[in-house]
Amino acid sequence: MSTKEFLKSVDTIFDDAAKLLKLPYGLANKIKLANSTYTVRFGVRLKGKIYTFTGYRSVHSEHMEPVKGGIRYASYADQDEVEALAALMSYKCALMEIPFGGSKGALVINPYEWGESDLEKITRRFTQELAKRDLIHPSQNVPAPDMGSGEKEMAWIADEYRRLNPSEITARACVTGKPVNKGGISGRVEATGRGVQFGLREFFRNKNDVILAKLDGSLEGKRVIIQGFGNVGYHAALFLSEEDNAKITTVIERDGVIYNENGINIRDLKNHMIDTGGTLGFEGYNKPNTKFLFNDCEILIPAAMEGVITKENANLVKANLIIEAANGPITYEADKILEQNGVVIIPDMYANAGGVTVSYFEWVKNLTHIRFGRMQRREVENQNLSIIKAVEKMTGKEFPDNLKASVMQGPTELSLVRSGLDDTMRTGYKAMSDRFHSDNRIKSLRMASMVIAIERIAESYVSLGI
Ligand code: NAD
Repeated sequence: MSTKEFLKSVDTIFDDAAKLLKLPYGLANKIKLANSTYTVRFGVRLKGKIYTFTGYRSVHSEHMEPVKGGIRYASYADQDEVEALAALMSYKCALMEIPFGGSKGALVINPYEWGESDLEKITRRFTQELAKRDLIHPSQNVPAPDMGSGEKEMAWIADEYRRLNPSEITARACVTGKPVNKGGISGRVEATGRGVQFGLREFFRNKNDVILAKLDGSLEGKRVIIQGFGNVGYHAALFLSEEDNAKITTVIERDGVIYNENGINIRDLKNHMIDTGGTLGFEGYNKPNTKFLFNDCEILIPAAMEGVITKENANLVKANLIIEAANGPITYEADKILEQNGVVIIPDMYANAGGVTVSYFEWVKNLTHIRFGRMQRREVENQNLSIIKAVEKMTGKEFPDNLKASVMQGPTELSLVRSGLDDTMRTGYKAMSDRFHSDNRIKSLRMASMVIAIERIAESYVSLGI
C-alpha cells in the first residue's frame, strides 16, 4: 500500500463516521485535514561529506495543546504517511481521553545504515530545525519514539532542546520516551506492548465481543501470530506468553519467520536476535514469507507497519481476532472484507494507545518535577501496617508472614504507571464496545472508536467557538 492510500484509508473511515454523525461539512473538513505539515531539508557533515536529510512534522489538530506524536525513522516516510499518522494521533488521544492534539514526525533515513555517533549528529540537527519553529516544545508539540527510533534518540532530542533553551524549567517535557535517568518514566519502553496485553484482557472480559469473534475463555492457550518483533511486538509477545499463557506460534520479522506450534520462547528469541543480529539459526526458522500471516490462529497481531492486510489477501486471514498494534496495518477495503467474514478487529486507534498514555504520564512527571509515588509510598505502607496490627489485635492471631509484604506495599512509580495504563485501556475499551453494541448503525469497533473520537474533537472545536 502506498502512503497516499494509507492517508486515503484513514480519511475514508473518518468520512464514514462523520456521515453517520451528520457532522456539518465545514466542521468535518476542519477536523479531517492536517492543520500544517512542515518539511525540512538539512545538511550534516558526516565522514568528511555533506549529506542532506529530509524530515517532516505534521500537526493535525490543535483543539488541545500540546500536540503529541512520535517521530519515525524510516527510508520510505513521506508527507502523506506523516499526515495519516498525525490524524490517527488526534483520534487516538480523543478516544483515550488523553489531553493532547495529534501530531507526527518522520526522518527519511534507514537508521540501520548509520553508526550511533552519526545518528546522534543527525538527530540533533533535526531537533534544531524543529525546535526553532516550536515543533518541539513542552507546551506546544511533544514528540515520542516510533518505528526506528527509541530512548536514545529521545535523550538526544531532550538534551539538544535544553541546550537551546537553558533557562526553561520544563525543558525535559519537550519529548517523551526518554531513558529514566534522563527524565523518562518507568514502564514507558514496554507501554505500547503492555497496552496491547491490557486491551486483549479487556476484550476477553467483554463477553459480547468474545462471542462475536467465535472465541471463548481467556487468553490462556490461544494461538497468536505476531508480525514485527520490535518494541511493540516483542513486549506484547513477552507479556502475553509469560503472564497470560497465550501461545505465540509465529513471529514474522523482516529477515525471517519463526514458527513453533507449541509456542516460541520469546526471551530466548530476543536474546538470539541480540546476539546474532537476526532470526537466522533460531529453532523453527523459515525464510521471510508473509504467507505465515494467514496460518491458523485465534489472534493475529500486526506490529510492524501499515498496509499489510489488503483487499488482495484479506480473504486469506484465518484469525478470529486481529488487534492492530501497528498503525494502519489493514486497508479500508480489507477492513470491509474482514468485517463481512466475521473477523473482529480491535483498531489501532485503541490498540496501540498504551504508548501515548504513558507518554502523557511522563509529560506530567516532567512538569511536576517529582517521581510518581514519592510522596505516598511510605505513608501508604504505614497505613497498611496499622491495619495489619489492628487485625492481629482483633483476632489474636499473627498476620501470615508470606502475605505481609504484599499487603503492606505502597505504590511505586512502575505500579502506578501500570495501574493508570490499565485503567485507561479498560475505560477506552468500554466506551468503544458500549457504543458498538448500542447503535445498530455502527458495524465495527473501528467505526465506534472513530465516532467517539470525532464527537469529542467536534465538541471541543464547537466550544472553542469556531
Ligand atoms: P520498531 O522499529 O521497534 O519495530 C518494528 C519491527 O518490525 C522491527 O523489528 C522490524 O524489523 C520489523 N519489520 C519491519 N518491516 C517488516 C516486515 N515487512 N515484516 C516483518 N517485520 C517487519 O517499531 P515499533 O516502535 O515497535 O513500531 C511498530 C508499529 O507500532 C508502528 O506501526 C508504529 O507506528 C506503531 N506504534 C509504536 C508505538 C511505540 O511506542 N513504539 C506506539 C504506537 C504505535
